[in-house]
Amino acid sequence: MVTKSALIYLSRQEGLKDFATRFRPFKKLTTRFVAGESIDEAVAAIRELNAENITASFDHLNESVATQAEAEAEVREYLQILAQIDARGIKSNVSIKLTQFGLELDPELTYSNARRVLVDAVQRGNFVRVDMEGSNVTQATIDLFKRLRAEFDLNDVGIVLQSYLYRTFEDAVDLLKIPARIRLCKGAYSEPPEIAFPNKKDVDDNFVRVMQLLLSSGTYHGIATHDPRMLDATIDFVQKEGITKDAFEFQMLFGIRRDLQRQLARDGYNMRVYVPYGKHWYPYFMRRLAERPANIWFVLKNILKG
Ligand SMILES: Cc1cc2nc3c(=O)[nH]c(=O)nc-3n(C[C@H](O)[C@H](O)[C@H](O)COP(=O)(O)OP(=O)(O)OC[C@H]3O[C@@H](n4cnc5c(N)ncnc54)[C@H](O)[C@@H]3O)c2cc1C
Repeated sequence: MVTKSALIYLSRQEGLKDFATRFRPFKKLTTRFVAGESIDEAVAAIRELNAENITASFDHLNESVATQAEAEAEVREYLQILAQIDARGIKSNVSIKLTQFGLELDPELTYSNARRVLVDAVQRGNFVRVDMEGSNVTQATIDLFKRLRAEFDLNDVGIVLQSYLYRTFEDAVDLLKIPARIRLCKGAYSEPPEIAFPNKKDVDDNFVRVMQLLLSSGTYHGIATHDPRMLDATIDFVQKEGITKDAFEFQMLFGIRRDLQRQLARDGYNMRVYVPYGKHWYPYFMRRLAERPANIWFVLKNILKG
């Protein structure tokens, strides 16, 4: 879809990023998808979710850092998040992006950065999810994850796969052999038809196919979607196969389909919400706009209203 790829293109424009992060009306709108700029604001959002029997995954917004110093600051932020999760007694794990830890600068440094966060998380009995980013880093992300997984346990670290990539079914088969805990999502970046299904129907069909493979594996996975059709397909499958509700979790993003988040938690499913916070919200926010054209009208209306 043209609008979608245009917005994803804009999400990568540095000049616009600087403008948007300074433009007050735009910034105000981010609260629709972002919990705030500080850890405290994210903790408050997670407390509210926990009160509704929903767990969380903390995400400090930043990606594709340009310097080692920036990557170091990200490691420190995550160590602080892990300490805060314990100190505040909230139910949350953490999600990291490897380009946030320097993947595009130096894979070796990224490995040691991710390892530092993992060592701390493991000491605290917590779990680190490695998010999946654009296809330029898919293989590097999987490779680095496998190195981490060779050193850490199944319940220490997990990865994400995207059903829009042709390669994903094979990646899932491969990762299940280790085994690995996988979050399945559709994929949020703009990818060419040579490597990703261009049609939504094929992305959805692949999502169902990979979901069935994952949930038949006996390992605890995350099914991350707001799509009622994907949710129904998952619920039908687990009921048919006799897979218990505690054998997997549903995951959604902060601020999206709160009604479904609450409903699934009330129905006794494990529900986890991804809670992003921080100053570098621009690319994340733009990807959320790209997913639903109606969100653009919501933004324009509010900017015009002042
Ligand atoms: C917990 C979690 C973690 C994720 N991690 C990653 C990751 O590591 N890598 C990655 O590439 N992607 C990630 N994503 C994003 C994902 O790939 C999709 O881009 C996103 O979830 C939208 O796809 P969908 O499955 O909800 O289905 P869609 O077909 O996009 O949407 C289905 C329905 O959901 C609702 N909806 C979806 N998005 C929005 C929105 N932005 N605003 C309002 N309503 C919306 C609408 O009702 C829509 O009709 C993650 C998603 C979740 C939930």
